[in-house]
Amino acid sequence: MQGASFPIDLNTILFGIHEEIHAQDDWGMPAQYIPQLACVDPAQFGMAIVDASGKCITVGDADVPFSIQSVSKVFALISTLGRIGDQLWKRVGREPSGASFDSMVLLESENGRPRNPFVNAGALVVTDALLSGREPKQALAEVLGLIRTLAEDDDIHIDASVARSEQTTGARNKALAHYLDSHDNLTEEPDKVLGTYFHQCAIEMTARQLAMAGRALAGLPGARGLMSKERIRRVNALMMTCGHYDGSGQFAFRVGLPGKSGVGGGILMVAPGQASIAVWSPGLDSYGNSKAGTDAAALLSKATGWSVF
Ligand code: GLN
Repeated sequence: MQGASFPIDLNTILFGIHEEIHAQDDWGMPAQYIPQLACVDPAQFGMAIVDASGKCITVGDADVPFSIQSVSKVFALISTLGRIGDQLWKRVGREPSGASFDSMVLLESENGRPRNPFVNAGALVVTDALLSGREPKQALAEVLGLIRTLAEDDDIHIDASVARSEQTTGARNKALAHYLDSHDNLTEEPDKVLGTYFHQCAIEMTARQLAMAGRALAGLPGARGLMSKERIRRVNALMMTCGHYDGSGQFAFRVGLPGKSGVGGGILMVAPGQASIAVWSPGLDSYGNSKAGTDAAALLSKATGWSVF
C-alpha cells in the first residue's frame, strides 16, 4: 500500500477534520429503532488513530463510550473462526448483499444461508456457532475477552440497558432468527441466540479503545502474532466488501479502506501496515452508517493517501 509521498502530520490532519466536521450542520439521525440509541445527541464526533509506531492520536469525543453495535460482528467472527474455522462457511456466505443490514429478501431465495457474516442474519449464525452448546455468558465472555486482549484494556463492558432496549424492539431480528431456524441454520433456540446477539451488540467502547483493538487487523507491530496473516487478510476482505452493507461500494469508493460500521455510529477501519482508525458520530446516513464518521474517513484517506487501491 502506498502512503502519502509527503510527511504526514496526523495531529494536524485530525485537527483539520474535526474543524471541518463541526462546520457542517447536518449530523444525521441516531438509530431510531433502538430507544436507548435514539436519545443520543447526534452532534458528537471523536476519532482515534494508532499509527505504525504504536502512538495513539485522538481528537474530539474520542474518550466517550458508545455502543459499538455491528462493529462487534468483526470480533464475534474472529472468535468463531478461532473455534470452528472454515466450517463456518458451510452456513454463511462471503458475498456482499447489496441489501440493508436487516434485510430478509435474500434469505428466502437463498434457502436460509445468509450472504455474509456482517448482515444481521449472518451475524446471528456466527453468534449461534459461537454459542455451540455453551451458555450466553461464556460466549459473551469470549468475545469481550478477545476485545480486551486486542485493545490491551480491561475497562470494556456490555451496557445491558442497551441490550434490553433492543430486545423490546428487535422484531426484525427475531423474524430473521426464526427464519434461519426454519432452515435448520441455527443449532440453539432462537431466543438464546438473539439474547446473546443483542448483548454482543451492546458492548460499549471509546474510539480510542476501538482503534487499539483494531491494531492486529491492521498488522501493526505491537499486535503482530495475535492473529494469523491469513485470518487478517480474510477478515479485512469481508470488511471491505460487506462491512457497510449496501453502502460498502460507496465506502470503498470514497475511503478505500476495509471498515466495519455499527448503528451506534462507530466505524473501525484499517490501513494495512499503517494505522488502525476508529471514528464515532451517532448520526446515521440512509444506510445506517455514521454520516459524519464516513465523511471524516473520506477526509482522512484523502489527506494521508491511505487506501488499499
Ligand atoms: N444491533 C443492531 C441490529 O441488529 C446492529 C445493526 C447495526 O449496527 N448495523 O439491528
